[in-house]
Amino acid sequence: MNPVLLITGASRGIGAATAILAAQQGWAVAVNYASNAQAADRVVTRIQNAGGKAFAVQADVGDEAQIMRMFAEVDDKLGRISGLVNSAGVVDMTAKVDAQSWDRWERMMRINILGSMACAREAVRRMSTLHGGTGGSIVNLSSAATRLGGAGQYVDYATAKGAIDAFTIGLAKEVAAEGIRVNAVRPGLIDTEIHASGGLPNRARDLAHLIPMQRAGTAEEVAQAIVWLLSDASSYTTMSLMDISGGR
Ligand code: NAP
Repeated sequence: MNPVLLITGASRGIGAATAILAAQQGWAVAVNYASNAQAADRVVTRIQNAGGKAFAVQADVGDEAQIMRMFAEVDDKLGRISGLVNSAGVVDMTAKVDAQSWDRWERMMRINILGSMACAREAVRRMSTLHGGTGGSIVNLSSAATRLGGAGQYVDYATAKGAIDAFTIGLAKEVAAEGIRVNAVRPGLIDTEIHASGGLPNRARDLAHLIPMQRAGTAEEVAQAIVWLLSDASSYTTMSLMDISGGR
């Protein structure tokens, strides 16, 4: 039986690269997406063509009812999960704090914080030995922005990811004796479509000179760390906030 993994935001970017790599290592993968069904289907097809197991599941992680429906669908189609990657995340258009609206902040916090928290809660309810589970591993996507602050671009995003660091530390301690490890990765500048959604499609290339390694990272390089944190190879690693940032 393949262990079951749910990855939010797995239709594109880091989530998609993680889904493909995890499937190669034997995970049956639930590929969550918000609206881009075609991209999710491409990930699923690629996994299936390589002999792996995957299905696509739509849900906006900014909405608790949709999260609950997604978990029920994963239970039904693949069985009890033992891995969760919270990769769904958004930035908004570049703006200083004095130009940011309450509505923008609500969306930012709902998707980036509450979505990850609610998915982790549902995962604990399935993985915890106190709930009849056999343990598992949760990996949250934080960001180097928690150290850098996002000034002049998206302080709101950095703030949301700061909450993910705190949540990772607290939850890791809370469930360590229940067979669950909880870690975060903090990517730096990674070449994905997220920068275009913030209005800066060339951001990864334009800022490469600020990175000690002088280049942006790839989604596949982040996926390697995530899949390691999911695996038994990292069996004594919990509560870590792993920087994957080319030295930035
Ligand atoms: P991306 O290429 O923009 O992909 C975003 C993914 O999240 C897509 O699969 C998208 O689904 C999904 N998504 C967006 N909103 C969602 C929602 N409300 N509910 C469910 N799924 C949703 O992003 P990425 O660069 O891979 O980023 C992945 C994670 O890494 C994020 O948490 C991001 O903050 C973090 N991160 C990225 C970087 C970077 O430089 N790229 C750096 C640090 C941290 P659809 O395809 O349906 O739209």
